[in-house]
Amino acid sequence: MSERPRLTVLSGPSGVGKSTVVAHMRKEHPEVWLSVSATTRKPRPGEQHGVHYFFVTDDEMDKLIANGELLEWAEFAGNRYGTPRAAVQERLENGEPVLLEIDLQGARQVRESLSDAQLVFLAPPSWEELVRRLTGRGTEPPEVIERRLAAARTELAAEPEFDVTLVNTSVEDVARELLALMDVV
Ligand code: ADP
Ligand code: 5GP
Repeated sequence: MSERPRLTVLSGPSGVGKSTVVAHMRKEHPEVWLSVSATTRKPRPGEQHGVHYFFVTDDEMDKLIANGELLEWAEFAGNRYGTPRAAVQERLENGEPVLLEIDLQGARQVRESLSDAQLVFLAPPSWEELVRRLTGRGTEPPEVIERRLAAARTELAAEPEFDVTLVNTSVEDVARELLALMDVV
């Protein structure tokens, strides 16, 4: 039973509800550590540096990549995103469960570098509902939504590469299922 906590990757198309599920889960279980990514994307209203992301310039991202400071990184819909390596390694060495919320390209890189990582795919109840959520969030202009929906088609097709699929019908149910997969409850 007392297996070493593994790294868990939560992935899925933009707008499916990844941030919502993770926020709900961490409200009830603040001890679950979520890696904070670096990104060249500009903050959305309410997003804080060091909490939601480390918001970096293109030059800073170049340096993080060149210095090998990222466990994985990818370009997604016109911006770059990456997982700082040191903080993840420290947690895993301390035996703490680690959660990454990253895109498909990043999930594939993690699978290559950490073979015992657990890859979880968050799927929408339907394509129409995904479009509704992404549009309804109201945080992106139409051309960005189009890019994200194009990426979503590719991401949905990659579902069989994942170890587990959770369908995000109910935020509460998915958060509970994710905690169980991480052996937190
Ligand atoms: P992601 O992090 O995957 O891009 P978000 O967490 O930002 O997605 O969610 C996108 C939108 O969908 C938000 O407006 C959110 O409130 C809504 N949403 C998330 N999960 C659900 C759900 N289970 N049912 C209905 N709406 C949801
Ligand atoms: P958003 O701009 O909506 O916050 O994120 C866009 C996409 O980038 C999402 O699919 C999110 O999971 C992914 N993402 C966030 N951080 C990282 C990261 O560090 N690495 C990778 N590969 N993807 C990330």
